[in-house]
Amino acid sequence: MIPYGKHLVDEDDIDAVVDVLRNQFLTQGTVVPQFEQALCEYTKAKHCVAVNSATSGLHVACLAAGVVAGDSVWTVPNSFVASANCALYCGASIDFVDIDPDTRNIDIDALEQKLLNAANLNRLPKALILVHFSGLSCDMQAIHRLTQVYSIVLIEDAAHGLGGSYQQSKIGSCVYSDMTVLSFHPVKSITSAEGGAVLTNQSQLHEKLKLFAKHGVTKDASQYQGESHGPWYYQQIELGYNYRLSDMQAALGLSQLKKLDVFIQKRSELAKVYDKELADLPLKLPIVQTQSQSAWHLYMVELTQHQRLDVYQQLHNKGVGVNVHYIPIHLQPFYQQFGFKQGDFPVSEHFYQNALTLPLFPSLTATEQTKVIDTLHQVLL
Ligand SMILES: *Cc1c(COP(=O)(O)O)cnc(C)c1O
Repeated sequence: MIPYGKHLVDEDDIDAVVDVLRNQFLTQGTVVPQFEQALCEYTKAKHCVAVNSATSGLHVACLAAGVVAGDSVWTVPNSFVASANCALYCGASIDFVDIDPDTRNIDIDALEQKLLNAANLNRLPKALILVHFSGLSCDMQAIHRLTQVYSIVLIEDAAHGLGGSYQQSKIGSCVYSDMTVLSFHPVKSITSAEGGAVLTNQSQLHEKLKLFAKHGVTKDASQYQGESHGPWYYQQIELGYNYRLSDMQAALGLSQLKKLDVFIQKRSELAKVYDKELADLPLKLPIVQTQSQSAWHLYMVELTQHQRLDVYQQLHNKGVGVNVHYIPIHLQPFYQQFGFKQGDFPVSEHFYQNALTLPLFPSLTATEQTKVIDTLHQVLL
């Protein structure tokens, strides 16, 4: 079975992890700061806090944004549940903005309208969490303009986005946002097994992110109440969590980061082959955006004439492991208690009905890709 996504770990990645195992520190050593520094250099963001998953990263980003009980956070239904759960972890409520059918990212007109209504009712969200779906950047400049008007904290869930760019900047630069969250889960652009990071250009947010990800504990005397008792001293000044990444994971991430541009190049070449070879099929293919370069986390097609379940099963029977992204979050059973129902976000629901994720990863061979393309032709024509 050809999977929809797969990590690519080489001998140099393995050596980097083994080096850590032979050294003094498995965690809280020097490799995590090196990884953070390298992520800053790559994205041009000023600050980075590595964490043990994007889910943890989204949680501390919400905490740093000041999201508390009684607040509301908005995101899109077309994402993994973590994009919404982080608001609930903070005791806030969640609401959604539907997606644009072509970019499959947040619908900016719908966002503008919803903000206008919310402003009239005095129910503006504290934070907006954007998803660069499939690796294609949202129109950050347009969204930033709106969130500035209403003083809303803008958080990018860039779990799909590392290696992609928007205008002249890499996703993660935080040029138009307050914070950007990355994931290093094995199916994402690069992996640290489990892992994530939060990027920001604001030193105040950076301090908060570090605190919330590390027990709310500080060793910075300037933040103390009262005097230090001595060199061993620390103070807990917030309720934080242990969301640290280990040095073993950071070593893998750091080694992978060196290959990120090669991975993205490979993904982008494979995507171009799909664009060309699938053009004759009854499918809606991903759009090409001129102001951004996708990280090509996912290559998603929409069926226009066929039943998705039927096509999915036929492809799996023939060894092509397509997948589906995403079951709209508002339709999950857990989310029904908040009053969401079928029909609330019709574009996300329609996309989900017809979507298929084709195999796309840096080590996908030409032979494998040809098999995917040929099998799609057999099934759809
Ligand atoms: C993968 C993913 C996450 C969660 O990432 P983890 O590192 O596994 O916690 C969050 N949001 C989106 C959009 C994702 O694709």
